[in-house]
Amino acid sequence: MKLSEAKEMDHRGWNVLINCLINTIETILKNANYDLEDKNKLKVEVDQIKEKYGGLRFYYHTYCDESIEPEEGPERNRIGSWDGYFHMIEGAVWMAEDMSTNICEYCGNPGKLRPDGWWKTRCDRCEEEQKVRL
Ligand SMILES: [Zn+2]
Repeated sequence: MKLSEAKEMDHRGWNVLINCLINTIETILKNANYDLEDKNKLKVEVDQIKEKYGGLRFYYHTYCDESIEPEEGPERNRIGSWDGYFHMIEGAVWMAEDMSTNICEYCGNPGKLRPDGWWKTRCDRCEEEQKVRL
């Protein structure tokens, strides 16, 4: 799915986190594709966003048309290779996945990873509410 579609989905407590991640990816793409004639040459598509072992998992793929990677020369020197941008995106995703284990996945308040039974990242209040329900 497109980044814009992933942004519109409801990720409950992780909405802000995921929106920040997608905004960051969009900024990286904008910089990567800055003032080239055909915009959005380097692209990201989201494969799946889910929770696993209490943490966010953001699966995506990057792609671009190899033929438009700048040739050696002044343009290439200014932009560099796309590889650097791939690594920046990778780093942003790692950061968001790491942060997710400190954000309650239900309400977005500060939470912690609770490795009892099903691993979940919850705040104290959501943890209590969950126990009452059981
Ligand atoms: Zn909560």
